[in-house]
Amino acid sequence: MEDRNLFRQSLEYNRIRNAIKRVSEQSLCPISQHYGYLPQHLNIKNPCQRGNAERGITLKQGFDPGDVIYDFHPKLEVVEINQSSESADSKDNLCAHCLKSLNISKMGVECGGCDGFVKYCCEQCMVADLAVHMIECLYLRSFDSEERNKISCVERLILRLIITLGSDDTLVRQCQDLTSHHEVYLEAKKSQDFSNLSLSQQSLCEVTEAYSLGFLRFFGCHLQGLIKLCFVVYVNSTVLQNYYDEPIGIMFDPFFSLINHSCEPNTILVWKGRRAALKALKKLQPGEELLVSYCPVFMPKSEREQQLQNSFFF
Ligand SMILES: [Zn+2]
Ligand SMILES: [Zn+2]
Repeated sequence: MEDRNLFRQSLEYNRIRNAIKRVSEQSLCPISQHYGYLPQHLNIKNPCQRGNAERGITLKQGFDPGDVIYDFHPKLEVVEINQSSESADSKDNLCAHCLKSLNISKMGVECGGCDGFVKYCCEQCMVADLAVHMIECLYLRSFDSEERNKISCVERLILRLIITLGSDDTLVRQCQDLTSHHEVYLEAKKSQDFSNLSLSQQSLCEVTEAYSLGFLRFFGCHLQGLIKLCFVVYVNSTVLQNYYDEPIGIMFDPFFSLINHSCEPNTILVWKGRRAALKALKKLQPGEELLVSYCPVFMPKSEREQQLQNSFFF
């Protein structure tokens, strides 16, 4: 509790609160200003468009099938935490920082602050994650162990995004501009009428209510910004996979978010540890738009469309 009071007096706390507030404001600058790090061969199409599929990433040069178009380290990742002892044998525990398997190495360091809720493979990984986890740990500690075990990867990803915003002005500007569709929730909330929404959209709204109020209790400000950040994560995050394409958690990356979804994608994300490579699935011409599938491609097309409709308000 004392740590939490110290945090509330810190500069970091004020920076984070300020960032949450700024995210809810609409920026009018072309979004390309916030992606100066993109390589020369990528171009942001319609950088002034907001909240629709007109904006996207196009190529300035051609690529052959299998070529790596962009190799990146996602801005934020959260691995699924193995909470159930029954599944301990079948499911791997991963280092929260480098994503290496803890079962194989048989080693690991648990964070004492959150009773081992977050685990690392070694001291170095623990230290490397400290800046974000220190605050995350305070948040996790505000729940008893039973409640803490119910905290999902999505909630943790939103939390990590909020914490990171405090020290990353570019990320604040990117989040201001990313598609979020949070207005759908705000309007339904205002009129107290959720009947126009599908059942899964309604349950997403319930989850948002719980998450945003939890964050509001902890950070003490700006519900609208917190709600927008929840939706930024729902709309723009994607499944984090291991080398064998098995889901291991979720990731959020502002660059990846700019690539439009298609059920017939021309690129695919290939994972190698923490790095993701966007590869061409076919011959791509200069000027062509990059398209990627945001959800698992093994689902039948109708289910995929339904899933997108439900989760992304498309
Ligand atoms: Zn590690
Ligand atoms: Zn901890």
